[in-house]
Amino acid sequence: MSDTIFGKIVSGEIPSEFLYEDEHCVAINDISPQAPVHVLVIPKKGIPRLVDAQIEDQDLLGHLLLAAGNIAEQLGVAEAFRLIINNGSGAGQTVFHLHLHIIAGREFAEGHMAG
Ligand code: 5GP
Repeated sequence: MSDTIFGKIVSGEIPSEFLYEDEHCVAINDISPQAPVHVLVIPKKGIPRLVDAQIEDQDLLGHLLLAAGNIAEQLGVAEAFRLIINNGSGAGQTVFHLHLHIIAGREFAEGHMAG
């Protein structure tokens, strides 16, 4: 858990609708979607940024990728989605509890890394 808005969401302190939940993570709709599908995959463990993850988090990080793929399938966007992790405020991270953005449902410009 962490003392961020996402820590409160995963602990249930702030009630939210989970699109998906398992032992290690939850998925919610982004409050300010940037695309028709914009879902956040949030580990229950509160790691502030990706670079703060440690070797003991290796299984959790793999789990998050597999969960994101399963969630994309569940949402019907498995053929075309982007997975984004913003690391650090300079990269646009605003909530310091690691999370993955699943973005889909709009045209992606070829060759762009994001956006
Ligand atoms: P970041 O910029 O840190 O990678 O992403 C944080 C994301 O969380 C943003 O896309 C923002 O819209 C979303 N967000 C911030 N607060 C809340 C909230 O209380 N509920 C939900 N569902 N999303 C939130």
